[in-house]
Amino acid sequence: MSATPITLVPRDASVDHTIQAIVTGDQTAETCNTDLALGPWNFDTRPGYGPGSSMGDVIPVGAPRQGELPQEYRDTTEEDLARRIRAAKETLGERVLVLGHFYQREEVVQHADYVGDSFQLAGAAKASPEAEAIVFCGVHFMAETADLLSRPDQAVILPNLAAGCSMADMANIDQVEECWEQLADVLGDLDTPDEDGRVPVIPVTYMNSSAAIKGFVGRHGGIVCTSSNAHTVLEWAFARGQRVLFFPDQHLGRNTAKAMGVALEQMPLWNPRRPLGGSTPETLRSSRVILWHGFCSVHRRFTVDQIEQARREHPGVRVIVHPECPMDVVDAADESGSTDYIRRAIAGATAPTTFAVGTEINLVQRLAAEYPQHTIFCLDPVVCPCSTMYRIHPGYLAWVLESLAAGEVVNRITVPDEVADPARVALERMLAAKPPSSPALRAAPEARA
Ligand code: SF4
Repeated sequence: MSATPITLVPRDASVDHTIQAIVTGDQTAETCNTDLALGPWNFDTRPGYGPGSSMGDVIPVGAPRQGELPQEYRDTTEEDLARRIRAAKETLGERVLVLGHFYQREEVVQHADYVGDSFQLAGAAKASPEAEAIVFCGVHFMAETADLLSRPDQAVILPNLAAGCSMADMANIDQVEECWEQLADVLGDLDTPDEDGRVPVIPVTYMNSSAAIKGFVGRHGGIVCTSSNAHTVLEWAFARGQRVLFFPDQHLGRNTAKAMGVALEQMPLWNPRRPLGGSTPETLRSSRVILWHGFCSVHRRFTVDQIEQARREHPGVRVIVHPECPMDVVDAADESGSTDYIRRAIAGATAPTTFAVGTEINLVQRLAAEYPQHTIFCLDPVVCPCSTMYRIHPGYLAWVLESLAAGEVVNRITVPDEVADPARVALERMLAAKPPSSPALRAAPEARA
């Protein structure tokens, strides 16, 4: 068990500033990699996810790479980039919409027109038909989802193409097709329902997956879920299937199904590198939820030890974690819920409260700054942001916006029609089952910039 006291990071919402202070020795907290103090362009030509929580994950060979960011955007100051971003946005006016994910660095989020989780932001894109371009400050699957839900003539732009998601990359379409074939060998014709009208297996994918996976799910009678509606979506799937194939996040699948009363022994793990995913035919036949061997390296950092330490050092602390955390962590916490749930839980606390939060540090530090009446800290004492969210930096945002203002669209993300059509079917099934999370997006007006 770690004996290091939990360090409360300063109320300055900038994780970048905290990391710089750690690297220069002005702050005593730890970071998982001092390379985080460098500009992401230092990593764009190297294979790998870059510094941060996904550092140790295996990046697919064909993962998109980002070309060289022009030198003028690397050499300048934070203040100059902020000025240039504001000027480009002013020039573009309503022609551009900038979206910022909760896990983005503060220096990017301050320029966003909307801040939210991936689905809330895709909804903002859909609700802004006047925008010719949508600059998505998030990761690759989020930009794909925005492209699926926006008008065909709207260009969705990802400021750094290397901003993938290591969890989404853990389920690629070839592996999933192969899994489906193997399941058919064991379970029989996957399209033939039993006497109750339920087919052998319904595929369910988390929003954090590629458009190709969402398309697969749409083609095979399946559905998409988010971390806020996974329970309802699993009920939908169990009404139509004897079992569920859930990907890519094993933890969200396990935590949700367990809360619904599914026994752990009926939730085998599917390892795509092993025959039958590492299971036996008997295990697969008696399963209720087959969990893909995927995880989020940000949320896997949280432990029961950290929760116990928080309780020792902060009696009365309220521990809230994200359902992408491992099951023992979710079980040990006081509450678990999506990023939107966490944000609303803190916003709704009327008396000064101490919160220990198990989710990405950029969101936690921003919440700590927004709600100074509370004590809010990240359960993980090591400052370790999401490696791929980190790849978006104001330098790239300035570059894509100034390119747009000059009439050039760079880094456009487009989902081909043959993938997009079934992927939209899977998303529409989710919306019909239950729209995810809260309706209102937190608008971040220009005054924030
Ligand atoms: S926090 Fe986890 S799931 Fe989200 S983008 Fe980063 S690696 Fe992917």
